[in-house]
Amino acid sequence: MAEANPLRPRMLIDGKLVEASDGKTFPVHNPATLEISAHVPEASPDDTNAAVAAAKAAFPAWSAMGPAKRAVHLKKLAALLRENKDELARLDAIAMGMPVSTHHYAHTAATHFDYYSEAWATIQGQASVNTPGFVNMTLRQPYGVVALIIPWNVPCHFLATKSAPALITGNTVVLKSSEKAPLAVARIAELVAEAGFPPGVFNIISGHGAPSGQILSRHMDVRALSFTGSSRTGRLIQEEAARTNLKKVILELGGKSPALVFEDANLDKAVTQTQFSIQTNSGQVCMANSRIYVQRSIAPQFIEAFKTKFSGARAGNPLDKDTNHGPQADEVQYRSVLSYIDEGKKTGTLALGGAGKFETTNGFFVEPTVFLDTPETARITKEEVFGPVVVINTFETEAEAIAKANDTEFGLYSAVYTRDVNRAMRVAKALESGYVGINCTSPLTGHDLPFGGYKSSGQGREGLLYSMNNFLETKSVMIQIDDE
Ligand code: NAD
Repeated sequence: MAEANPLRPRMLIDGKLVEASDGKTFPVHNPATLEISAHVPEASPDDTNAAVAAAKAAFPAWSAMGPAKRAVHLKKLAALLRENKDELARLDAIAMGMPVSTHHYAHTAATHFDYYSEAWATIQGQASVNTPGFVNMTLRQPYGVVALIIPWNVPCHFLATKSAPALITGNTVVLKSSEKAPLAVARIAELVAEAGFPPGVFNIISGHGAPSGQILSRHMDVRALSFTGSSRTGRLIQEEAARTNLKKVILELGGKSPALVFEDANLDKAVTQTQFSIQTNSGQVCMANSRIYVQRSIAPQFIEAFKTKFSGARAGNPLDKDTNHGPQADEVQYRSVLSYIDEGKKTGTLALGGAGKFETTNGFFVEPTVFLDTPETARITKEEVFGPVVVINTFETEAEAIAKANDTEFGLYSAVYTRDVNRAMRVAKALESGYVGINCTSPLTGHDLPFGGYKSSGQGREGLLYSMNNFLETKSVMIQIDDE
């Protein structure tokens, strides 16, 4: 029987909502039921090039318009995002399984569009009279066409955190959604059209890494590219940029974030927060504390309390308001998490969970899983699992805890729980990561602080006060003053 009101996701290219020019689509399945949620346009090379060409054509007028006028469209979009928040949550739920009960990202997206619509007056260079005989200055100007490539785990959030600062600074945008979660983004494409952005200013396409993502990375007319996703793809994008026009590349990549829990910590708080960090979004969070190091004297208590909390996750249909634990985003993610779990069983001690629930639920659910006593060299300790799977190991001394925490190629977020302020600050200084929570952990972040990775977790920083900088060139201008 045909669905009463089937979804018809489209792309926004040059102000028009369109199918793929060659008619190609790909199916998106609800990972909790395996039903097909929608058929989504796969942007062809022609479509991708058309989006870049439209952005290039729109750039002169958009950048000349002045930020206060550009802001009107951002404000309108913020209001539309708020009005449509429930629908956007539903679309993410049926695309990648995020429970609607935990989806507040249309609201965060709206906040970003609102913020940047007000922040335009801070787009300023500097002036200097330090060179005798001169008045000098810097101008901050947009790059031109910027490409934004986003992941599937929090689509509305990444769409906004990248596109709002890019647009307000006068750039024009081609954003590509993830093939795993294109539905909410396609709905936002309709809202962008409704918000009255001039044609070509804000283009939104859907499709896989190849061809559309690759084409954006190589495109000679794309001058800056902001990417959030896996470290593997980040490297490929960086290579393409280096091979072609050396476009500016901002990379927000993966993590293997440690939380260190010392014996003087508030244990309840440490358990509750570290558990939430790895459970929320079914562990599909770049900064999830997937490694926990507990001081040996309190390890038995911590582990028991952690297991009790973690096993209380309420798995179920993500559209159900009582569910707080959805399925993994798709079969590829599900199989990948299960293969890490299988390997984890060989290297460490399984203390909780350890099973996939596909056979019994017909959805890609994975049990909250805890491993103990896992070697620091094991793949499950070293690599990003991106599932509800945590390795809890122990330490004796502060130095040992720091060494274990830093023994990774990643460096996105670290946490330390202790009541000793001196120790907290010593450890915070020693941790090799772009973010440190003291007596708190991810996903908690302050939106006005810079977010980004040390080491292979990325390059560049994003945040309310930082992201406009990613999309502005700096030009030095010297003015020589003649003597009277
Ligand atoms: P992914 O790298 O597989 O895909 C991300 C995006 O890149 C998608 O839109 C995809 O279509 C596109 N892509 C794939 N191959 C490409 C190519 N060759 N060229 C250009 N684009 C290409 O990542 P994912 O699975 O969508 O997301 C999960 C990853 O994202 C995890 O590693 C997670 O840690 C990371 N992540 C990082 C942050 C952060 O802020 N640091 C936030 C969220 C997620």
